[in-house]
Amino acid sequence: MAERTAVIVGGGIGGLATAAGLRRHGWTVRVLERADAFTEVGAGISLWPNAFTALATIGVTGVGDERIGVAGGLRDWRGRWIVRMHDTEQAARHTGSAVVAHRAELLDALLAAVPAECRQAGVAVRGVRHAARRGGHRAVVEHDGAGGGGELAADLVVGADGLRSVVRESLWPDAKPPVYSGHTAWRIVMPRPSALDGAGVRAWAETWGPGGVFGLFPMPGGRVYCYATATVPPGGQGGLAELRERFRGWCDPIPAVLAAAEPEHVLRNDIYYLPRLRTFVDGPVVLLGDAAHAMTPNLGQGGCQALEDAATLSALAGSPDLAGALRRYDELRRPRTQELWQRSKQGGTLSHLTPAPARAVRNALLRMLPRSLFLKSLARPFSWQPPAAEVDIAAK
Ligand SMILES: Cc1cc2nc3c(=O)[nH]c(=O)nc-3n(C[C@H](O)[C@H](O)[C@H](O)COP(=O)(O)OP(=O)(O)OC[C@H]3O[C@@H](n4cnc5c(N)ncnc54)[C@H](O)[C@@H]3O)c2cc1C
Repeated sequence: MAERTAVIVGGGIGGLATAAGLRRHGWTVRVLERADAFTEVGAGISLWPNAFTALATIGVTGVGDERIGVAGGLRDWRGRWIVRMHDTEQAARHTGSAVVAHRAELLDALLAAVPAECRQAGVAVRGVRHAARRGGHRAVVEHDGAGGGGELAADLVVGADGLRSVVRESLWPDAKPPVYSGHTAWRIVMPRPSALDGAGVRAWAETWGPGGVFGLFPMPGGRVYCYATATVPPGGQGGLAELRERFRGWCDPIPAVLAAAEPEHVLRNDIYYLPRLRTFVDGPVVLLGDAAHAMTPNLGQGGCQALEDAATLSALAGSPDLAGALRRYDELRRPRTQELWQRSKQGGTLSHLTPAPARAVRNALLRMLPRSLFLKSLARPFSWQPPAAEVDIAAK
């Protein structure tokens, strides 16, 4: 097959994973990243079994040697269990196990699979357009950057440029802009505090209280990852002091963990989601990751879905029929990501209820839910498999 070229806009999780996957299928790739370097924010990211299937499929290793056990669960803000999971065989069978990786460490593993000559930092893409040519379609990427910028034509252009995607803006002019979810998030990675001595080293917990959520997950290397969300107007700036105030009076070990945190450990971001798109594909241009389906983080699946997108796209793009491959990508990825998008949004609403009676009813209903049903509901997102063509390659 003649050389086939792809320009990937955005060098985050989705863009780099796509570059790694496409290269395995013989594509010549170029990743353009707006930032001056390929970096990620200093936070954790939960990677579920489907993310590991996707990583294995694109040949990326070295993430997640220390898995979290299944033991843990959901509590109310007074510390009473709402849903408790034990490390049973049944639980492990349905859910596998997760890893909370440091984002920088995940990015390093992805970078190791994409040679330096395939990536360019400090290049901001301004727009994308179609370019007809005999025997097929190409697309042209217009970019800024050192030397005054320029244009790059390619057989395939991947918009992996996140929530405020320029690629989407260029070719999906009717797409609605991102919407504020009503919640802001704080994230902390810190050394495991002594307040957790005696608690299960691999146990995790998410705590739901009036208008807020606090999550605590173990990380490899003796660290913990905490996240907190609250229903507030967008644009707030408060860091650790606000967190301590908001979660004062919540059950142990939350106040003690926050007392041990340092202000520089804390990241704050308003949470936006992207209204659903009717297609992820326009000619030889395809959207992927947050550019296609930014979702709220309540299922911890946004990044995992970007990895699945990348593994799926690269598997299908191994075919000589690129137009057919992209149609199939859209058929496979839209329903799945949009279902998880919806579930995540519902999870956000449910977990942030404020009125006490509504919370009491929610908690009572969840406590009555048979554990097997709860586990099954988790199994669906986690048990993803790549399209068959890629399985063959991964097995080689
Ligand atoms: C608070 C919070 C917690 C989360 N927790 C989890 C979790 O636990 N698990 C999980 O799976 N997901 C989680 N997510 C979601 C996850 O972070 C995203 O889904 C994931 O980062 C999307 O990756 P991406 O590569 O599609 O986009 P991004 O990470 O946004 O990367 C896009 C890249 O494109 C670059 N770019 C943008 N515009 C241009 C341009 N014009 N030209 C060139 N480059 C450009 C950007 O600089 C960036 O590097 C969370 C999200 C939030 C907000």
